[in-house]
Amino acid sequence: MVKPFVPQLVYIEPRALDYPLGQTLKDKFENMGIEIRETTSHNQVRHLPGNNDFQKYRNAKSTLVVGVRKTLDFQSSKPSAEYAIPLATGCMGHCHYCYLQTTMGSKPYIRTYVNVDEILERADQYMAERSPEITRFEAACTSDIVGIDHLTHSLKKAIEFFGERDFGELRFVTKFAHVDHLLDARHNGRTRFRFSLNDAYVIKFFEAGTSRLVERIEAARKVSDAGYPLGFIIAPIYIHDGWQEGYRHLFETLHDRLPVKTAVPITFELIQHRFTGPAKRVIEKNYPNSKLVMNKEERRYKWGRYGIGKYIYQKEDEALLQETIEGYIHHYFPDAVVAYFT
Ligand code: SF4
Repeated sequence: MVKPFVPQLVYIEPRALDYPLGQTLKDKFENMGIEIRETTSHNQVRHLPGNNDFQKYRNAKSTLVVGVRKTLDFQSSKPSAEYAIPLATGCMGHCHYCYLQTTMGSKPYIRTYVNVDEILERADQYMAERSPEITRFEAACTSDIVGIDHLTHSLKKAIEFFGERDFGELRFVTKFAHVDHLLDARHNGRTRFRFSLNDAYVIKFFEAGTSRLVERIEAARKVSDAGYPLGFIIAPIYIHDGWQEGYRHLFETLHDRLPVKTAVPITFELIQHRFTGPAKRVIEKNYPNSKLVMNKEERRYKWGRYGIGKYIYQKEDEALLQETIEGYIHHYFPDAVVAYFT
């Protein structure tokens, strides 16, 4: 069982101490006996322990920076939401395929932002611009926010904030099962709590440092019992020997351990495995022994934003993946909604 995340090293930006949450976190980490260093800016967190890049990368992923979010412009977050709400960046998990490896570049440590009220005020402005249309906010674009929230409770605050808004909804996805502190949050059904799931092979070989499948499903059951709209992201859907049986077993396990009927239909989001040229290079550096196959010749190139295209499955493989996974969903969860396959 993966224990709740505890950083080995904490950096605190001095400005963070102007906010109550900054002070609370400082006291908390002092009481936990964790080494705390002061830094004027997260860009100065350069001297992370470690003799080489490999060690530094690993140490960074257990380092937490407590800072202030300066940019209050939210990025877009299609297809699952209109905006990404930035409560934290970085993650302590070691998923080989994770896109944060490229987006976080040389700074893979975890950052949490203490100016949560300012971030939520900005969300209010975005909602006002679009009302009466509902604006959806995704809180897990740049981190696995649930995985650190037992320390910060920023997500819990955001859940309760959206619980009181008429024109906004919150959503996030996690691979961590440490959800107990979120069960009594006053969500008013306005937060969709999603879990990222995969078959046994993918979890075993590519998702180190995250909660195991049955732990995630058990957490999903608790969340559903707490009245949250529930969803699952099956990603990355990956072809390997025995994948059809592997994914069938995943849905069977899910079916056996979850109530099939929920007040709000369960949603499934389906994302096939993809990689970019730069990501392949970074993955091979960070996880040199990975079994993850990224063979460009076996894939189809799809142009992407910013001129960086990605390698997805060939048309026939893609069609088979979609048909197979959607078939399992319709069989085991006839009332569920498949939001998209991409
Ligand atoms: Fe990346 Fe999510 Fe894995 Fe964290 S849990 S390393 S954010 S894929």
